Amino acid sequence: RAKELGRNNLQVFTEEMADKAHEKLLKQAELRQAIARDEFLLHFQPQVNLETGRVFAAEALLRWRHPERGMISPGDFIPLAEETGLIVPIGDWVLRAACRQCKAWHDDGLPLLIVSVNVSARQFRERNWAAHVAAVLAEIGLDPRFLELELTESLIMQDVPGALATMHELEAIGVHLAIDDFGTGYSSLSALKRFPVRRLKIDRSFVEDIPADVDDKAITAAIISLAQNLGLRVIAEGVETQAQVDFLRHSGCDEIQGYFFSRPLASADFEALLRQPAMTADAP
Ligand code: C2E
Ligand code: MG
Ligand code: MG
Ligand code: MG
Repeated sequence: RAKELGRNNLQVFTEEMADKAHEKLLKQAELRQAIARDEFLLHFQPQVNLETGRVFAAEALLRWRHPERGMISPGDFIPLAEETGLIVPIGDWVLRAACRQCKAWHDDGLPLLIVSVNVSARQFRERNWAAHVAAVLAEIGLDPRFLELELTESLIMQDVPGALATMHELEAIGVHLAIDDFGTGYSSLSALKRFPVRRLKIDRSFVEDIPADVDDKAITAAIISLAQNLGLRVIAEGVETQAQVDFLRHSGCDEIQGYFFSRPLASADFEALLRQPAMTADAP
């Protein structure tokens, strides 16, 4: 009886595994075709200056509109895209689409916002990537100072000398850099001093339990003062409540991004926001 049960369990187990593997292959094939089928789109989330209350930048966030499964979040396909290397062409699509949208808003006479783009390690490590970014900007006609690239600590720490070289090339082009999800990686503070970055983005995990969690408050305040002392700007991610805004403002945080102000928006909705003169300001 036990033996029989064991065998049945094993059967279920392997079937399940086969299903999973099959599903992954299917997803991979679909992902491969998604660019050609025009299934990707960007949403834009406002970044707000705490002092002026105005939007100065938009983070481009990738979405996959799947013909059967509907809207898919990046957390559900970016890992597979990274694993297969598909993140390189997908990331390139994002870079171009984000720059093109930003340029179109500028050309429409809307406030001169910055567009912020997430970069994956595979993409960043492509040969001559900085030159490629410069070529894309030139082709689209967007001034490099309106592009910010978000790098993670782990991307940088995988190969500090290599990352530093590419970061300096990007800096020379005039593109700005930010460290995303700051505090979750393990970038050494001494290395941080050498990175040519303009902005630290405090990870949402530290912000979400403010004001209840005293440790998270201490960490957040420490990151803000670290940024101030290094002459960097600092933005808090995932800000959802007035109490969080109050704490961040009191602690000297420069900027916020999160549902408190706005969820990521479809481009038409973001544009409607841009058309409200009191809401936005030219990027500093
Ligand atoms: P991220 O770059 O840290 O982006 C912030 C994520 O937090 C976004 O999730 C955003 O929708 C979400 N978020 C913003 N405000 C709030 C808030 O107040 N509360 C909560 N609970 N969440 C908030 P999303 O769009 O699902 O993206 C997840 C991650 O996927 C991003 O994290 C980024 O690492 C990655 N990603 C998104 N687009 C791209 C892309 O074009 N390329 C690459 N390589 N990665 C991307
Ligand atoms: Mg980001
Ligand atoms: Mg983040
Ligand atoms: Mg926590």
